[in-house]
Amino acid sequence: ITQGLKWMFNPESPFYIKPRLQSDFLSWLWKFRGACNETNVRKALPVLSALNAASLDLFDELAAMEGVQFNFEKKGVVEIFSTRKGFEKAVKDAQRLQEFGIEHKILKSDDLVHYTQGMRTTAQSGIFFPGDAHLIPDRFVLQLAQQIEKQGVRLLTSVEVLGFETSGRRVTAVKTTRGDIYAEEIILAGGAWSAKMARELRIKLFIEPAKGYSVTFKRPPGCTSTPIMLAESKVVLTPMDDMLRFAGTLELAGFDLSINKRRLLAILKAVPSYLPDIDPDALELIEIWRGLRPCSPDGLPYLGRPRRYDNVIIATGHGMKGISLAPITGKIVSQFAAGETPKLDLTTLSLERFN
Ligand SMILES: Cc1cc2nc3c(=O)[nH]c(=O)nc-3n(C[C@H](O)[C@H](O)[C@H](O)COP(=O)(O)OP(=O)(O)OC[C@H]3O[C@@H](n4cnc5c(N)ncnc54)[C@H](O)[C@@H]3O)c2cc1C
Repeated sequence: ITQGLKWMFNPESPFYIKPRLQSDFLSWLWKFRGACNETNVRKALPVLSALNAASLDLFDELAAMEGVQFNFEKKGVVEIFSTRKGFEKAVKDAQRLQEFGIEHKILKSDDLVHYTQGMRTTAQSGIFFPGDAHLIPDRFVLQLAQQIEKQGVRLLTSVEVLGFETSGRRVTAVKTTRGDIYAEEIILAGGAWSAKMARELRIKLFIEPAKGYSVTFKRPPGCTSTPIMLAESKVVLTPMDDMLRFAGTLELAGFDLSINKRRLLAILKAVPSYLPDIDPDALELIEIWRGLRPCSPDGLPYLGRPRRYDNVIIATGHGMKGISLAPITGKIVSQFAAGETPKLDLTTLSLERFN
């Protein structure tokens, strides 16, 4: 809490909550506070690690598909630390993750240069997670979209959902800016906007948009090919093909998509403070981006059928893990749609868990 409060009043901090008296937001915060305890972490870790492992296997299958290339690389991730306190806390967390099959290796300062692949670092210690993987998210989505279109799926883009038509326990039509769409099965997966959409169906979901930024540059020569997390700054560096992406910040500021320049600059400033060989001013900028993560109060997705309807599936609330968990989420949704029971126990992801 002390760290959170310090961050609240620091305009360059990686975490920010915009104070506001909106009942939905206050209710979300209250549930978030309730979820921040050991019991909940113990409940969340087994399901998250099982979903993660299943997703990694599915990524392998997707990456092996002919004609698909989204630069999926299983190189692990290195977390590097500038403070002893940060390192010691992370070691405890890593040991807990180990119980759920997530391997790690503790790195002393002499080991670091091997993992940064020759780049100098001011960090004193690190942790390597060999099981991690990375990809180019927009390429991943586009390539899969192209594949399913080839298989006859019709994708409608730039169409906004305005509401639904229902009859008894069924949703009969989706009302959109391009007319009504009739369907046998409706999948509600609207990211941070899912709570608004679900409200149209009189379903209560607690989701807050959490804004984050990324800045993508041309990858400089000699740059590492393994992603690096700058622990205390909460910034992640991801090499992606010929690009290098810096990402970070979590702002709970509603649906405001404006770019806060000070927080963006803080991301850029953090990088050379850990890795002096990278000078953002000398890099060629490709894109500044921001997005809204769909965050549930307990950090777990919502996945399942709502009690009220027989032909609706909800898949949302993936927070910071929406790309990692995309394949297994898709698989589980398809199992629900086919009337099968998913193998994984999804009780902890129930849509009604906060009601
Ligand atoms: C800076 C940053 C870094 C991240 N890094 C990672 C990472 O390393 N790994 C990871 O796994 N995840 C990461 N994430 C999180 C990940 O991006 C999200 O979890 C994921 O995008 C959620 O997917 P989604 O499909 O649920 O929602 P979204 O991707 O937000 O998609 C929802 C879609 O619904 C559309 N929509 C909204 N309202 C309507 C409407 N009324 N009608 C029609 N369409 C509508 C929106 O336009 C949007 O296209 C990161 C996010 C950010 C911001």
